[in-house]
Amino acid sequence: MARTLQAPVTVAFDYTRSTGPVLGRFLSGLRDGVLVGGRTSEGKVMVPPPEYDPVTHQPTTDFVEVSPTGTVTSWSWVPEPVAGQPLDRPFAFVLVTLDGADTPLLHALDVASPDEVETGMRVRVRWAAERTGVITDIECFEPDSEGGGGFETGAGAPSSTTHDITGIVTPVTLDYLYAASPEESAFYRGLAEGRILGQRCPTCHKVYVPPRSACPVDGVATTDEVELSHVGTVTTFCIVNVPFLGQKIKPPYVSAYILLDGADIAFLHLILDIPAAEVRMGMRVEAVWKPREDWGTTIENISHFRPTGEPDADYDTYKQHL
Ligand SMILES: [Zn+2]
Repeated sequence: MARTLQAPVTVAFDYTRSTGPVLGRFLSGLRDGVLVGGRTSEGKVMVPPPEYDPVTHQPTTDFVEVSPTGTVTSWSWVPEPVAGQPLDRPFAFVLVTLDGADTPLLHALDVASPDEVETGMRVRVRWAAERTGVITDIECFEPDSEGGGGFETGAGAPSSTTHDITGIVTPVTLDYLYAASPEESAFYRGLAEGRILGQRCPTCHKVYVPPRSACPVDGVATTDEVELSHVGTVTTFCIVNVPFLGQKIKPPYVSAYILLDGADIAFLHLILDIPAAEVRMGMRVEAVWKPREDWGTTIENISHFRPTGEPDADYDTYKQHL
């Protein structure tokens, strides 16, 4: 058995942002299969259009349609794509200056090997089958073997009058591997056996749960293992009234700091089986374990804490833990 535990963790949320009128126009164009650039005060066409003119700093108002074909001005090969990249097979990131534009657009080029990419090559947009007004409406670029060209610079404002994309949702995800310390690993392995394990500092004799590698007061290793009671005292708490994405319990519910009997540090867990408004500081609670067949090597083996029915603890017994 490995000395320490590790587990994959994913932190993810959807970032919702408003596009403003300029990028909204560009994204509406993508949805409609049209590439929209903005003309600057110096007469240059930029794709995507800048929200403000780089020289006068005035809002961009002069929009032009540019060609779906263009020329690669720079590239970088991606041999091993990661999740969330435009293609799930090796591809090139390319800067493409579209015909009719003066600045390049960054996107993916679908070719099988770096030998098939070169600066100056002609490419064209491959549109996604379903388009919703996001940059991935351009699935990628592909080599343009037909030669193309001949697109009139600044062919005029796009004919589409429906430019109603006002917001986009960007999923943000971080995958990482959490590596537990030897002390934490012992704590999680204890939970897999229905035990709550802490460690005592040899100098100040404080008991930490979950255990740390060292006492934060004395800086010495905590090597003395202590099995703790499943009963404790609520030191402080908050009532969660606000719903949020991914919430597993319907609000209102209580999240509380619980000081287990014999421990010198409180930890956070749920209080259930009592109306939220009746939870109080000093309330005595006990761990409610999930059915044993559902146990993993995780704190979630403890479903929640519930009142024991004992009289509340005296404030003096936990005031130094607030
Ligand atoms: Zn200590």
